[in-house]
Amino acid sequence: MALHRVGDDKETDVFAAPLSGETLAKYRIPEDVSPPKVVYAALHNELLLDGNAVQNLATFCTTWSEDEIHRLMNECLGKNMVDKDEYPQTAEIESRCVHILADLWNSPAGAGTMGCSTTGSSEAAMLGGLALKWRWRQRRAAEGGSTGRPNLVCGPVQICWDKFARYFDVELRQVPLEPGATGLRPHQLERYVDENTIGVVAIMGVTFTCDYEPVREIAAELDRIQEEHGWDIPVHVDAASGGFVAPFLHPNLPWDFRIERVASINASGHKYGLAPLGVGWIVWREADLLPEDLVFRVNYLGGDMPTFSLNFSRPGGEVIAQYYLFLRLGRDGYRRVQQACADTARYLAGEIANMGPFTLLYDGQGALPAVSYTLADPAGAGFSLYDLSDLMRMRGWQVPSYPLPPDREDTVIQRVLIRHGVGRDEIALLAQDLRRCLDRLAHGTPPDKARAGFHH
Ligand SMILES: *Cc1c(COP(=O)(O)O)cnc(C)c1O
Repeated sequence: MALHRVGDDKETDVFAAPLSGETLAKYRIPEDVSPPKVVYAALHNELLLDGNAVQNLATFCTTWSEDEIHRLMNECLGKNMVDKDEYPQTAEIESRCVHILADLWNSPAGAGTMGCSTTGSSEAAMLGGLALKWRWRQRRAAEGGSTGRPNLVCGPVQICWDKFARYFDVELRQVPLEPGATGLRPHQLERYVDENTIGVVAIMGVTFTCDYEPVREIAAELDRIQEEHGWDIPVHVDAASGGFVAPFLHPNLPWDFRIERVASINASGHKYGLAPLGVGWIVWREADLLPEDLVFRVNYLGGDMPTFSLNFSRPGGEVIAQYYLFLRLGRDGYRRVQQACADTARYLAGEIANMGPFTLLYDGQGALPAVSYTLADPAGAGFSLYDLSDLMRMRGWQVPSYPLPPDREDTVIQRVLIRHGVGRDEIALLAQDLRRCLDRLAHGTPPDKARAGFHH
């Protein structure tokens, strides 16, 4: 086995090194060692084929972080979240974050709430769903009812709830969208819930439209249903995005633990929580809403610490970065960041409305900083939103088009998310490119002859 001798006495240029003269291994670990600089250069270049995260307007996730976050992440590279005893300070910081979030979401139990970090909202949804299922089973057993056919009722949820239902054997009763609706409407609930409903999921920031579902009205309808039928059905709020937006931009909107029926809330730290990828949160209103059966105890500073998770090993850096952001930005900083995004969303909504062919579905005000729209006349436009997405991609923009969920799947929409790191100038350039693409879709591709005149 040859060790490539780069730098015996002088360093070979990375692109003259042996590895640079080969295609990279795809099915087998190579026999030889290669110098880090050479491998780095090869991978760095390969990764340029990915979309540019800054121009990815499809994602809710963090794509920009301060240098200090990069440094903290680097310093925490070796820390395992699961080793509470070995890294007690990381465990302590996770616990501070949980209580900070319980406070942000107006938990009445204060320091006594229960919650944890996760890898994202998906894992948090699994944990929230499991707690609902266990508590429903206890309720049914106490009443002497059957516990064979649990169901979960929700509107147009993110796919993680489909996964929860499939993996943990719960029937997902997804309420179809009514014409003109951007989410679940409370009066629809009556036809879907029954004594086997483990809970209702309400969404703060529907993935498709970015609107909030009316949590307070959903809870009020469940109060009415309880009076009529005796079923006490808890609400879990999927606040993947809204959990870090509503407290700052819509503080007077009650959607959280101010509503008694809300048993648990999840949010993605790596979305509007502004932390780098890989962290989510779930908090229960009060500790006893998390059934003891689901809790595992691990060693912690000579005592034990309750834990609830699907993973075992998990990096600690994202949790530290979340705490950094709480300290660094404070409530005022979060408010300013989210407000700047909302202002830019409003600006883009105005541009979109003026372009002509679009009807706004959501104008970026009142819920997430985002814009969603559809073609006003899809049949007469002469092009589809998918064509427009493709053309925008030529300039690197990733603006997704997709159908709405049932029963509105014939409506195709486009959605642009404005998040931390996406500035006004960038969105002005996006609007300019949208106009250019619309012009090209309306008047066709410039003939080759006309293009041949431009040689640079
Ligand atoms: C993004 C999202 C999820 C999934 O969250 P991850 O953090 O990506 O796992 C769940 N629900 C909603 C409403 C979302 O927007």
